[in-house]
Amino acid sequence: MKLLTTMHMWIEEASERECSLGETMLQHEMWHSETEETVILERMEQQLQVMEKACERGLAGVTSRAGLSGMDGKRLNEYRLRNTTLLGPIVSQAVAYGVAINEVNASMGVICATPTAGSSGVVPAVLFAVRDALTLDRRAQLQFLVTAGGVGLMLANNASISGAGGGCQAEIGSATAMAACALTEALGGTPEQCGHAVALALKALLGLTCDPVAGLVEVPCIKRNGTAAATAITCAEMVMAGVESKIPVDEVVLAMGSIGRMMPVALKETALGGLAQTETARRMTQQLRETGRIDTKN
Ligand code: SF4
Repeated sequence: MKLLTTMHMWIEEASERECSLGETMLQHEMWHSETEETVILERMEQQLQVMEKACERGLAGVTSRAGLSGMDGKRLNEYRLRNTTLLGPIVSQAVAYGVAINEVNASMGVICATPTAGSSGVVPAVLFAVRDALTLDRRAQLQFLVTAGGVGLMLANNASISGAGGGCQAEIGSATAMAACALTEALGGTPEQCGHAVALALKALLGLTCDPVAGLVEVPCIKRNGTAAATAITCAEMVMAGVESKIPVDEVVLAMGSIGRMMPVALKETALGGLAQTETARRMTQQLRETGRIDTKN
């Protein structure tokens, strides 16, 4: 095994071994961390349980301490159970779960960062929405997370997974790419197709700014987790239909990093621009300060 540092290297290694990206990444992790497979999978199982509890909690309904967000995951879930949605059963579940899980983050509940807290709803939302339909057993669900984690590793090494470093494209964009890749693999896509899914997902969200109202990871973060989950599923289906990215995946990753570096500081988690500086956002921030619900430094 050699150190895998780019999507191309990872895809090539998987193709040579004639196994999936997830299996290859698991072997890579065993080699790199000198850890047995059972130990790695046990750790992943613990993370999966954290995600499941967060989803359950979010669907039951939570609100944030600041009061800027909450109950939308519950609302979305109830709506989809009552109605025939235009999105269909799987995508509407993914949207509800993504929002619900990220509301738990905003309520200071326990989540699993995938790759960050602000984007923690996307990967589990997609997994939980498809696992029954695709009859993914527990091992396959852990594999889904290993594949998603591998994409996060490549993005962290070659671009960014931080809103402060690269804007929301690096958080929600990365989470979408992680979910799209893992879903493509779960649908039976080849390693090359998984790479295309990463590229399509990143391209869908390139340039997305990080502009959280009052500097809190609530508005617009939570709703983005829902829309991003739907985008990830869309990208995976496009790839399975034979659509390919004209720009190779590693070049898309580098473009994301480059855009992040060009992005002004006002749009990188400082709450000094974008949505955070709209008239309504400024008024909300002022109210939060006056009522002591946020630190006066915010
Ligand atoms: S807007 Fe900023 S804080 Fe919110 S999810 Fe995106 S990167 Fe994270």
